[in-house]
Amino acid sequence: MTRILIAANWKMNLNTSQASLLIHRLQERVKIHRDIEVVLFPPMLTLQPLSMQIDRRKFRLGAQDAYYQDEGAYTGQVSVHMLRDLAHYVIVGHSERRHVFGETDDEISKKVQACIRNDISPILCVGETKQERLDGETNQVIHDQLMVGLSGVTSNDMDDVVIAYEPVWAIGTGDNATVTQIEDAVKVIQKNLSAMFGPRATKKVRILYGGSVTPDASRGYLEIDGINGLLVGGASLNYHQFSDIVDSAYRVARENQ
Ligand code: PEP
Repeated sequence: MTRILIAANWKMNLNTSQASLLIHRLQERVKIHRDIEVVLFPPMLTLQPLSMQIDRRKFRLGAQDAYYQDEGAYTGQVSVHMLRDLAHYVIVGHSERRHVFGETDDEISKKVQACIRNDISPILCVGETKQERLDGETNQVIHDQLMVGLSGVTSNDMDDVVIAYEPVWAIGTGDNATVTQIEDAVKVIQKNLSAMFGPRATKKVRILYGGSVTPDASRGYLEIDGINGLLVGGASLNYHQFSDIVDSAYRVARENQ
């Protein structure tokens, strides 16, 4: 079966000692399961110390963002290239990057390509705003974000690409997307990927859902056809909640065996 990916986006929270304490608690609760991949996205500052603390049989590390140039005069940036030995994944095009920092689809595309060039898997986030949904533009937004974000990517590269459907209105709001809305978005993503890369490459691409995921809702999301994991923000900062979400993934994986 396709490995379920449970990603924890800690955003700009937790200093080095708080992050270390959270890992310690998670390490006690999270069990090893070969069909589940748990990836933590701590603040950049804490990646290095956490890489020495984590039990690699239980966790992998990723970065919440990174710059596409490999090196040079780019004050304040950390490149994808610099993360090569530390991170397995980089989140690219998170809605907070797009909307708070004005990141464009063109920059996002360069970041995706930098990930592929440096053997790191990009998790490309796509999703519509509330207004875009109300205006009936959801499918078009997803199409455009995929088309531009994945331009320059080949069918072979798609083995390493993960797509996260994250409706902007559901992120950090407690306003969950319904199963039907997610099913529809998954179909749109698969249709577009298939048109761009062919059905074989599309089958291998894991699609995650993200947006106010809670332990109670997690199982229902993981049972949606075509969803292969979750991108969790707020709930990933609470070790009870996050380990309960990982437990939901265990149950789903066991049933699918
Ligand atoms: C996220 O950060 O991608 C996210 C989905 O956050 P939250 O779970 O808090 O909505």
